[in-house]
Amino acid sequence: MSLANKSNTQTLAKYLQLEQNGKIQAEYVWIDGNSGLRSKTTTLDFKPSNISELKEWNFDGSSTNQAPGDNSDVLLRPAAIFKDPFRGGDNIIVLAECYNNDGTPNRTNHRHSCAKLMETHAESHPWFGIEQEYTLFDLDGQVLGWPKGGFPGPQGPYYCSVGANVSFGRDIVEAHYRACLYAGVTISGVNAEVMPGQWEFQVGPCEGIDMGDHLWIARYLLHRVAEDFGVVVSFHPKPIKGDWNGAGCHTNFSTQAMREENGIKAIYDAIDKMGKRHAEHIAVYGEDNDQRLTGRHETGHISQFSFGVANRGASIRIPRHCAAEGKGYLEDRRPASNIDPYRVTHVIVESSLA
Ligand code: ADP
Ligand code: MN
Ligand code: MN
Ligand code: MN
Ligand code: MN
Repeated sequence: MSLANKSNTQTLAKYLQLEQNGKIQAEYVWIDGNSGLRSKTTTLDFKPSNISELKEWNFDGSSTNQAPGDNSDVLLRPAAIFKDPFRGGDNIIVLAECYNNDGTPNRTNHRHSCAKLMETHAESHPWFGIEQEYTLFDLDGQVLGWPKGGFPGPQGPYYCSVGANVSFGRDIVEAHYRACLYAGVTISGVNAEVMPGQWEFQVGPCEGIDMGDHLWIARYLLHRVAEDFGVVVSFHPKPIKGDWNGAGCHTNFSTQAMREENGIKAIYDAIDKMGKRHAEHIAVYGEDNDQRLTGRHETGHISQFSFGVANRGASIRIPRHCAAEGKGYLEDRRPASNIDPYRVTHVIVESSLA
C-alpha cells in the first residue's frame, strides 16, 4: 500500500468548527470478538449528566465475531462516559458492555463479572496501575522508524530515548497523552521502550472497575490518534521475533492494607496467594504470552512463578522503594500487552482477597 490512509486534519478542522444546533454526538465504544475495539455514533438532543440517561443500543454481532448470523443483535449497555477529544465540545465517548438477546453477558463481556467482584471487595479499596506497552507500524507493515526490509541497530539506545535517530513516533505519543487528559482518562505517564518503535503509557492508580474502563478507552484513543497519522497500533506481546523485547502490561496492585504502615505484610501475603494460582493467572494473561515470557528480555519464565524485590526477571516484583518503606504495592509483570484488564484485575482480586 503506497497511498497513505491518513486524516486530512487541517481540512477537517474547518468542519469541526460548525455549530451543532444543540445536538450532541455520542460515540459508543465496545470490545469485539477478537479483543479489538469497535465504535459507532448516535445523535442525542440533550446533554447527559448521568449514565442512566443514555439509551441501550445494539449492533450486528455477526460482523464482529460476537453472535451468529441468525440471531445477530447484540445489545450495548452504557457503562462509562468520557469526553470526546476528537469532536470536542459537549460530545462524548460512551464505553458500553455487550449483552445477548436473552439478557446474559456476551462471551466477550468480562466487565460484568469484574464489576460485581470489585463491588464485593470495595472496602479493601483495590488500586491498580497498568503499564501498557505497544508497537507502532506503518501501513506497509514495517515497524515505525525501522529501515525498509532491514533491522535497526541492537537494543540499548532506544529506552526513554531522545533524538530523531532513536525515537520514532513521538507525535503520536504526545497527541495521545493530551487526548487522554482531555477525555478524563487517568493517564499517569509515557516513555519510549527498549525496542525501537515501541512505547508505553501508564494508566492509574485507578480503583476497582475503573482500571478496565480507563485502559480500554486509552487504547481506543490511541487507535484513533494513530489513525490520524496513518499509523497502526499493535498490542501483540511479541510483534517481532528474535532478540527484541516483547510488549507487556505490567499490572501494579495494592489494597488499603498494603498502603498503610507495615503494609509489606499484606503485600507478601497477596504474593503467596497469587503464586499458588499461577496457572489460573497465566490463563487470562494474554494470547501468545508464551512467546514473551521466556525468562529473557526482562521477564520471568511462563512455567515458573517467582518474586523478588527490584527483580525485573521475576513474575512479581516489589519495587525497591516499597520494600524500603515497608508498604506500597506489588507489580505483576506477567500480563501481556493484549490482556483484557477486566480479567486480569478480576483474577488478582480473586486470588489475593478471596
Ligand atoms: P515501572 O518502574 O515498572 O516502569 P511505571 O512508573 O511505569 O513503573 O508504572 C507504575 C504504575 O504503578 C503507574 O501506573 C502508577 O499509577 C501505579 N501505582 C503507583 N502507586 C500504586 C499503588 N499504590 N497501587 C497500585 N498502583 C500504583
Ligand atoms: Mn445499517
Ligand atoms: Mn513502566
Ligand atoms: Mn515498560
Ligand atoms: Mn513495570
